[in-house]
Amino acid sequence: MSVLRTLAHAVCTSALLLALMAVLLPGTTQAERPHILWIVIDSWRWDHVDVYQTGVALMPHLARRAQRATVFWRAYATSSWTVPSVASLFTGIYPSFHRATMFGSTLPPHQTLAPSALSKAGYRTVAISANAFISKRSSFAQGFTEFLDAQALLSQGRKGKVRGTTVVKTLDEWLNKQQDVRSSPLFLYLHFMDPHWPYGPEEQFLSQVLPRFGEASELKRLIGELYFGQLRLEGNTSTELQNALRALYAGEVLATDAALEELFVLLERHRLAENALIVLTADHGEELFDRGHLGHGRTLFEEVVRVPLLVWFPGQKKRIDIHHVVSHTDVLPTSLDVAGITSPLIGAEYRGRSLVACGPTTSWATRLQRWVGRKKCGDSSRLIWLELLPMKELHSTAPLHRAAVIRDMQKLLVLHDGSIQRVDLASDPREQHIAPLHDRRFENLEAAWDDFRERLTSEPPPPVMTPDAATREHLRVLGYGD
Ligand SMILES: [Zn+2]
Repeated sequence: MSVLRTLAHAVCTSALLLALMAVLLPGTTQAERPHILWIVIDSWRWDHVDVYQTGVALMPHLARRAQRATVFWRAYATSSWTVPSVASLFTGIYPSFHRATMFGSTLPPHQTLAPSALSKAGYRTVAISANAFISKRSSFAQGFTEFLDAQALLSQGRKGKVRGTTVVKTLDEWLNKQQDVRSSPLFLYLHFMDPHWPYGPEEQFLSQVLPRFGEASELKRLIGELYFGQLRLEGNTSTELQNALRALYAGEVLATDAALEELFVLLERHRLAENALIVLTADHGEELFDRGHLGHGRTLFEEVVRVPLLVWFPGQKKRIDIHHVVSHTDVLPTSLDVAGITSPLIGAEYRGRSLVACGPTTSWATRLQRWVGRKKCGDSSRLIWLELLPMKELHSTAPLHRAAVIRDMQKLLVLHDGSIQRVDLASDPREQHIAPLHDRRFENLEAAWDDFRERLTSEPPPPVMTPDAATREHLRVLGYGD
């Protein structure tokens, strides 16, 4: 009897709460919807960000801004190069499911795409990209009302890599042309390239970091030889040259911090940061001779897949630190959730989850909403996936890893030859030691990989677009192709 009474009480309480919520939370209207900004920094290593207490002192402005952000300590991209990784941001699904894994891959038209979904909900959708893969002529432009890309920025008289400051200046010019940019919610996608190869920070940034990597004049001499082609990277892995390249990369991170600060000041000037969800992340990391190589797209080790992720939720006043494992597939569900757009696919198997519960609880109403919706920030049993499908244009040799699955501190890496590596990230964060065979802690991960493999489709991937001559030239400058 008491069980029935408890059950009846629970049903009544839930019904009452739902009725109360319907009155208190009538849903987000278009005018109330927050602006949504995604800022992606290409090839940006998490361990070069002061926010993570790495002691690098490369991003002081960001460290200050992070005092009002949710800082995710263990965020993962879904792959280690741009196309599959950004496609997962746009779709909320893993590379084997969106199939955008080649140079000119198109995004699957039947999947929810961030700009299209937000556009349908009344958002004005604008992209400014310094990356030639994410361009006006690629299928990443679907759903954007305006798209300014690297080619357009280069045609303004610049050559080579488009700088973050140029992206910010382009946004400034665009904003100045708008009558009232705040009259409708804005979805803004910005893609910076500063830490991407070729590294070449301005003198003011380079001179600040050089002494940290060795004798500054000697490093400067090596960098000069690199710039003028007297020194080739292939086969030359002297410690001095590695340090010179690490210094150049650090200089680019310092430059990124300055460009990001310019961006935040600009957003404040246009009052776009007041009611906004701002997501800042990297599409992947960068190898800096961790295992003898430079670049990305060869492996799924931490230096190329673990990425910075900072989220400023609307109204957030204090820093929140989250140590659960999260995935880039969560960025789209989180954005839709904040915008009040419901999707039955959020949280489904092999799809991302909303991270709204990792943000601040700004009112008792949101607390109630979370309690009724049973939303929680994360859990240590969650599995996340990383993938690296073969892509001959990226490197002449096949990448080492095919996939990886992470649960809490355990990581299973699957090589292209089918063999498996096991890593305990708690005791071996730099993945120097492979766990012995038949380690029982990894049995569940191996079963999970078998399940994942069974879901893979044998259907042909979406069509691939051949990049035009200008895009090919731009990609060549960035180190892709021959
Ligand atoms: Zn990239």
